[in-house]
Amino acid sequence: MYTKSVNEFIRVRLEQTPNNTQIARDVKNKFSSIYKDKELEAIRKYVSKTRERLQIEAKNVPIRRLFFDIETSYYELRVKTFSLRNYQRYYNHNDIEKDSKVICISYKWQYEDEVHTLDWRMGEKKMLKAFIKILGGSDEAIGHNGDNFDLKYLRMRCIANGVLMFPTYRTLDTLKKARSGFRFASNKLDYLGKFFGVGGKEDNPGFKMWEDVVDGNVEMLEKMISYCERDVILLEDVYFILSPFITHNNNFSVLTGGKKFFCPECASEDVIMHKTYSTPMGIIRRNMKCSSCKKQYKISNKDYLAWLRYQVNGNEVE
Ligand SMILES: [Zn+2]
Repeated sequence: MYTKSVNEFIRVRLEQTPNNTQIARDVKNKFSSIYKDKELEAIRKYVSKTRERLQIEAKNVPIRRLFFDIETSYYELRVKTFSLRNYQRYYNHNDIEKDSKVICISYKWQYEDEVHTLDWRMGEKKMLKAFIKILGGSDEAIGHNGDNFDLKYLRMRCIANGVLMFPTYRTLDTLKKARSGFRFASNKLDYLGKFFGVGGKEDNPGFKMWEDVVDGNVEMLEKMISYCERDVILLEDVYFILSPFITHNNNFSVLTGGKKFFCPECASEDVIMHKTYSTPMGIIRRNMKCSSCKKQYKISNKDYLAWLRYQVNGNEVE
């Protein structure tokens, strides 16, 4: 009924949130093919029983991992040309008649059900202000090409609108991770989603949709928002699958008030020492493995020894 991977997922989530109903909902979402028709209440009961059986108490500080994606409008140009043939020329900034803007920003918190969207109907400035506040409240912001596109683009619109935005954020870019760690035929989110079997992007009407949105077609804007939200859900799924295979950028054990030697991905304390090795300089390092989420990570020998002491005393310091 509850497979090994579902049980593992529940165990990770039990440490992260005290909300059993929320975990049940996550199970239903994450493993929708198995639990589509199962009642939420039945799953919740199972989660609650598992918590009692394993005696897992949730940490007080939640993991604040934010997934986000933006859609932007195009530049409108005034083009003077002697020929209608396209020479794939570069345009000049003097040709810009209308600047590109943020149309909408979709985001969700890890493990939460809801995807939220801010769009330009509230005014770009207000939308940016609202999102920058949300971004500021995250410990890690995850986007596909988020570092090179979304965040830079947002910063460009922030300076244009006089909205303050921090120069740096703690991020993880799934495109960078896909490029650096694997040889996928394509690193596009759509391809990765299909490759991992979590579904691709929805087909969208393409440029026509953008034109209609810019022309003020509300129905199309709603459609664009739904694509953007779907992308954020896909992003979280793709990240979930990539996560054990990639290095982490932020340590969520420390961020949620835990120790350096516990799992940096899911903050679980259920970890084992997997392998010892030494660097070319002769410094000992330890490869650790999280039993809950399967993340593998390195720690220093000093932290490893602290972990051993912690196992014995329940405290790092003797
Ligand atoms: Zn973990």
